[in-house]
Amino acid sequence: MESCEVGSDWVSRFRRSVRRWYSRHGRQLPWLGQRDPYTVWVREIMLQQTTVTAVVPYLERFLARFPNVETLASATPDEVLREWEGLGYYRRARNLLKAAGVVANEWGGTWRRSAEELEALPGVGRYTAGAIASFAFEQAAPIVEANTARLFARLIALPVLPSSSEGRKRLWSLAERVVPRVRPGEFNQALIDLGATVCGVEARCEVCPVRSCCEAFDRDVVERVPLRVPRSDPTDVFEVMLVMRREREVFVIRHPDGERWGGLWGFPSWERSTPVSCTAGEAVRIQRDVAAWGCDVEFLAWQKPFRHSVTRFRLHLQPIAVQWQSGEWLGTDPGEWVSLDELENRPLAVASRRIARRIESMRGQGDGVM
Ligand code: SF4
Repeated sequence: MESCEVGSDWVSRFRRSVRRWYSRHGRQLPWLGQRDPYTVWVREIMLQQTTVTAVVPYLERFLARFPNVETLASATPDEVLREWEGLGYYRRARNLLKAAGVVANEWGGTWRRSAEELEALPGVGRYTAGAIASFAFEQAAPIVEANTARLFARLIALPVLPSSSEGRKRLWSLAERVVPRVRPGEFNQALIDLGATVCGVEARCEVCPVRSCCEAFDRDVVERVPLRVPRSDPTDVFEVMLVMRREREVFVIRHPDGERWGGLWGFPSWERSTPVSCTAGEAVRIQRDVAAWGCDVEFLAWQKPFRHSVTRFRLHLQPIAVQWQSGEWLGTDPGEWVSLDELENRPLAVASRRIARRIESMRGQGDGVM
């Protein structure tokens, strides 16, 4: 079935079934009925590639810290990233700040209502624009995100990858066809809920309200739709992480934009081709590496290693504590000495925050700096 071939009878039946189901089984999300465009926008950006459960506490804190687009627009990148820390995909936070500047300064604080205009904001793609337009302004704007993409793909038994250009075209075409003029925001939310709770990765067709509209069900191919790109195994990466102290300060660098943890602060780290062995010889090699970046250091201790997964990489991190003796940091990434109190205010990469917490707990036990 081509999505453009969906007839008006089908559309009416589908809408009716979705609405009826939603009135009884829709999720009681904390933001239900929230129409403020600023709140909708922040929430939808946070929800990109992140679960509702993970987003709820972040959203609450973020909105308490930056209650409107003006306060956000006047914040520094570090302040915004600190509130975002741990949520991942930090480009979203940087774009949020840029877009806040556009709304507050270029648009004079007045939100545009159409999806087309909203899409001009940095970090706002077609889905987010449709979500703001429909949830905040009741515009009949279509949406396709992970839950609705899966639902739509099954409804039309999509024979290609949803992420392919043909797949995207057909899914958006169906989304345009089904979005109603009456209460489109509520309808879009109903679609997301249906995709999240019934037509999930494991489809619950036995309780599905739109089973009679579903081609994948009809043809008994639900398990095979949507098509997926096979996942490759994560790549192991071995890194040394340098925890360099100087009196009551530690040294941190700013991760460059465009790289993993771009814009966040963290302890300097570098890759090794093999697992790091905690030997005296290895400690000497690391001291030499650090000397090449301008600092003479004395080895203090190997710290407990840990793993951290980020995108398709599995990082094996080996922190090493050293005492600075002399010299200036000449590494490519700019760095600073910061007090432990200041470290708490800096937006840190997750792995570095883990080390910072360890240092903090040792300080609490009266164990010096680390
Ligand atoms: Fe999804 Fe099954 Fe409902 Fe089709 S019938 S929309 S596959 S839950």
